[in-house]
Amino acid sequence: MCANQFKNLGLSDSVLKACDSLGYTQPTPVQTQAIPYVLAGEDVMAEAKTGSGKTAAFALPALDAYPAIKGSKPSILIVTPTRELAFQIAEVCQVIAKSTHHRVVVAVGGVSDKPQKAQIKRGVDVLIATPGRLLDLMSQKAVCLTGVGLLVLDEADRMLDMGFWPDVRTIMGALPPARQTLLFSATLKDAVFDMDEVFARQPKRVSVSPETRTTDQVEQYKLLLPQDVKPPFLQAFLSEHTGKRIIVFARTKNRVDTIFRRLSRAHITVDRLHADRSQNQRQRALSAFAEGKVEVLVATDVLSRGIDVQDVDWVINYDLPRQAQDYVHRIGRAGRANAKGNSLTLITPDQELEFRSLERYLGGTIQELALPFFNMDEATKIAQSRAIRAQDRRDPEIQQAKKEYKARAKRKQRVKEPARQAHAKPQKASRFSKSSNTKKRVSPTKQRSSGAQGNNRRKQSKPSHGTIKGQAKRG
Ligand code: AMP
Repeated sequence: MCANQFKNLGLSDSVLKACDSLGYTQPTPVQTQAIPYVLAGEDVMAEAKTGSGKTAAFALPALDAYPAIKGSKPSILIVTPTRELAFQIAEVCQVIAKSTHHRVVVAVGGVSDKPQKAQIKRGVDVLIATPGRLLDLMSQKAVCLTGVGLLVLDEADRMLDMGFWPDVRTIMGALPPARQTLLFSATLKDAVFDMDEVFARQPKRVSVSPETRTTDQVEQYKLLLPQDVKPPFLQAFLSEHTGKRIIVFARTKNRVDTIFRRLSRAHITVDRLHADRSQNQRQRALSAFAEGKVEVLVATDVLSRGIDVQDVDWVINYDLPRQAQDYVHRIGRAGRANAKGNSLTLITPDQELEFRSLERYLGGTIQELALPFFNMDEATKIAQSRAIRAQDRRDPEIQQAKKEYKARAKRKQRVKEPARQAHAKPQKASRFSKSSNTKKRVSPTKQRSSGAQGNNRRKQSKPSHGTIKGQAKRG
């Protein structure tokens, strides 16, 4: 009971004040376990669920243990895989720094490095960087890492997956060997990280519910459906869930763009996030989503760990993630902190086996989504006939046959036309020819409205009218 308070973890008054400013009343399990170790100067290797509060688990004690110096060398270095994560960490650090007076600098790619270099020159205590940009700055001698006392490797498994580990190794080589090191990862397998490479001493292990890999805050669903039915289903799902915050994950940038365009056309407020979007576009999309101006965010996996938005109601895996860890990270976007969320994974029939192995990894079977709002059979039929038509359009033989059929139909039409005209002419001509061969064709309406002359004509043409009537009667 007593330990479940920030004030019992050994944090100073100024950092406790920061907890209040952050709105945190009670530490999360990873914070309860990690904070005392970090304050005691221990190395830490932490396996923490996404959304478990791991950022504060390292940021609160780090800024408490390494006071502000405001020199041009950082004493705390936080290396993280994505720009969005870097900004997210910086947000937490900035709030703490209001009480502790640290200078916090973010160094990430995708934007000019000039302001970052200028900020570092002016003074930096906490440097939060992505590996690529940090290496850039190091090679330009724009940053000196010899003063780093604490290194945090955030989302270390992700950096490994994304191929950043050689960069991380180079960065670690530039740091003082006697530093304190904290490694945070969603999943930890001893074999993955070379412990001797990362830690100079035996790290303390922190593990939050390793038996359940995904957060309990998220109700997980799955839905088996053909690929072609995904677009109409998604639209129906979003219409059914208006007013909710929904993240849709797709595998590729192209797919994200396609889904985005389709939803925009359906007048759904939507934005997108992927690696080809500029830093400004990404930030704008995230802010709009966070402020509720945009209900749906479509994103690739590169950003699945960088999105920290409160109260995400649904995470939809439009495409299966490439790796099981990505699934954990994606659905970790929903149900963050103490909020409940839902996830839905769309599975095509050929992915059933793949999904079953993901379920084994997660340690349970995921429930089927009930579909009172969507007629799957009808949608499947429509999608199938649409697919057949699309296939026909692509089939050169069918296209050739269609052309030939059209040409034949035209030819037939041409042959029929003169015959019909020939058959039709005498009938039409008879209207006038019997009374006068030289008379022009005048429409009956004109005849009716053409005054005296018309009356004359009517008089003159009376016999012929009689003839037509007579013919008609005979006919
Ligand atoms: P993280 O796992 O660091 O990405 O944090 C996930 C979310 O939990 C963030 O939105 C944090 O603001 C929030 N959070 C972290 N620690 C706490 C806490 N002790 N109480 C309430 N919310 C928290």
